[in-house]
Amino acid sequence: MKRRNFLKNTGTATAGLISVPLLGACEKKKAVNTITNSIETIRPIVICTWDFMNASAKAWEVLQKGGNALDAVEQGVMVEEADVNNQTVGVGGRPDRDGNVTLDACIMDKDGNCGAVLCLENIAHPISVARKVMEDTPHVMLTGTGAEQFAYEQGFEKTNLLTEQSKKEWLEWKKTSRYEPIINIENHDTIGMLAIDKNGDISGACTTSGMAYKMAGRVGDSPIIGAGLFVDNEVGGATATGVGEEVVRTVGSFLIVELMRQGKSPQEACEEGVKRIIGKNSDHTDFQIGFIAINKKGETGGYCIQPGFTYRTYSQAGHKNNPSDSYINS
Ligand code: ASP
Repeated sequence: MKRRNFLKNTGTATAGLISVPLLGACEKKKAVNTITNSIETIRPIVICTWDFMNASAKAWEVLQKGGNALDAVEQGVMVEEADVNNQTVGVGGRPDRDGNVTLDACIMDKDGNCGAVLCLENIAHPISVARKVMEDTPHVMLTGTGAEQFAYEQGFEKTNLLTEQSKKEWLEWKKTSRYEPIINIENHDTIGMLAIDKNGDISGACTTSGMAYKMAGRVGDSPIIGAGLFVDNEVGGATATGVGEEVVRTVGSFLIVELMRQGKSPQEACEEGVKRIIGKNSDHTDFQIGFIAINKKGETGGYCIQPGFTYRTYSQAGHKNNPSDSYINS
């Protein structure tokens, strides 16, 4: 469904297609028996940050075929990791200030299992390495050369992540940058994705090349469980995009899930998460933070701040490049 139709359907929930205000999503109704034998509606759904339509469409394809949420989010975000035109995730990502592309990713499943890779080089699909860390090691995180070595042992191929385009822009940046580790608020677009499958189970994934031209070794929120992503299958899930340092400081995604546990809707929880960050910054006008969230009922929310705006809900989007200015694809 095109954005036009998404907007048209916003707020008009009908059988078969439930619109999701604010967020890109795919969902469908399905009646199943719960343990208590009552009929409960479980709607598979996937949402993601930004307007990564192809990624959410891929995840939706997995869910539609009866696949589980973990496979859906992994395969969904892999679409962006493979897209050389997306300079904020995976192959083609913008490098650090030394010209090296370093990738961060994490994944979390319905049972609270999780895996992450930090500062991983030369591997096209960090999300799949993160899943391997989760499933095939006793650990949660692997970093740098250790993560890379592990990836090769698991059969991942060495890949040059720095495209000509990203290299050209980096060389241009170096001319004027004074080589300082600045945070460029425009040069990031992490994909965070949350899905519920036909069994009502939730999983999430988050993957990024991080801040463009960051200091070598810098890691943001995206691969940090609790910061860039958190899932509690009894409650819901949340994921973040934007200036990772701010999200880490507030353990943003964990906070949002805990707020939902206390009874807040996903929207209210995302707004509170953003407000916590604003509360810690006297000048919050020069950075961008966005959260999206989903609860066990399949309700969704999203909220962000961006330069020039105090707050911004995604229904106010009306323009591209808003962290959840996304689409319904069913
Ligand atoms: N959160 C990411 C980071 O700080 C950047 C982004 O969301 O684009 O690395």
